[in-house]
Amino acid sequence: MLLETRDAPPFYKNGYVLACDQTREAIIIDPGDEVDELLRIVSGQRLHVRHILLTHAHIDHIFAMGAFADVEVVAAAAERPLFEHQLALEWDEDSIQGYNNIFPTFTEAQKTAKPFLPTIWVETQQVFGSPKNNVVFATTGGHTTGSSYVSFPSESVLVTGDLVQVDKYPYFGDETTDLTVWVDTLKSWYATNPARVCPGHGRVVDRDYLRLEWEYFENLVAALRTLKNDGVSMEDAVIHPSLPAGCWVDNCPEPRWFKHCIALTYSRL
Ligand SMILES: [Zn+2]
Repeated sequence: MLLETRDAPPFYKNGYVLACDQTREAIIIDPGDEVDELLRIVSGQRLHVRHILLTHAHIDHIFAMGAFADVEVVAAAAERPLFEHQLALEWDEDSIQGYNNIFPTFTEAQKTAKPFLPTIWVETQQVFGSPKNNVVFATTGGHTTGSSYVSFPSESVLVTGDLVQVDKYPYFGDETTDLTVWVDTLKSWYATNPARVCPGHGRVVDRDYLRLEWEYFENLVAALRTLKNDGVSMEDAVIHPSLPAGCWVDNCPEPRWFKHCIALTYSRL
C-alpha cells in the first residue's frame, strides 16, 4: 500500500494519496492547494483514482476535488448541509474578500476551483478498496457535525482530517463544532493504539499527540467554566491568563480566528 501526503503554504493542509501497489487503484483524501503535487504522484505512479474521500466540508479540504474526473466523491451524510451551504455561496467581491482574510490563497484558488456535491453519502461507515487492502471511511463529528476519518487497519494508520491539527492553533470555531464528541473521538482512537496518525494539518504523529490535543481541550473547557462561574465577561475570558497553553509550537503565530473559537466555546458553557 502506498500512502503519500503533500501540503502547500500558507495552511499546510494535508492532501493524501492512498493506493494499492498491485491494482494501482487509488483514493485521494481532502484535495486542496497541494493538488498539483497529488496529480504528479498519480501520473508518476500510474495510478487510477477511484474515489475522493472528504473528511469534512471546510473549503481548504474540498477545493480541488474538481481536478479529478470521473470519480465518486465520498462524505458523511451528516455533513451534507455544510457542503450545500458551501456550494450555494455567491462568490461576489465581499465574500471572496471575507474568505481571503481566512485563506490568503482563496482569490487565486477560487478562479479554477470546481467543487461539487459528493456522490456517496456515508451514514456511519463504509469500506473501500479490496478485502486485503481495506480502507474504512467512518464519521464521528466533533470538528464539524459530519467530521470523518479514514483508517487503513492492516497498517494501523489513521487519516484524521482536522480532528487532529499538529503544531498549530487548532480551529474549533465551526457552528457545528462539538468538543465533547471531539475529545471522545481522540480517546477512542488512542485506545486502538494506531501506529501512525496522519492529521489534517501538520506532520504525521504517533498516538501520544492525541492525548496532548484532548488534554488541551479539557483544560480549556475547565478554565473557561471557572471564568464563567466567576462572572468574567467574554471579552476578558478570551484573553485570560488562566487559559492553558496549547500543544502548538512556540513560534506559531496566533491566527485571527483563534479568539473566535474561544468565544464560541465560552458562549456554549
Ligand atoms: Zn476544518
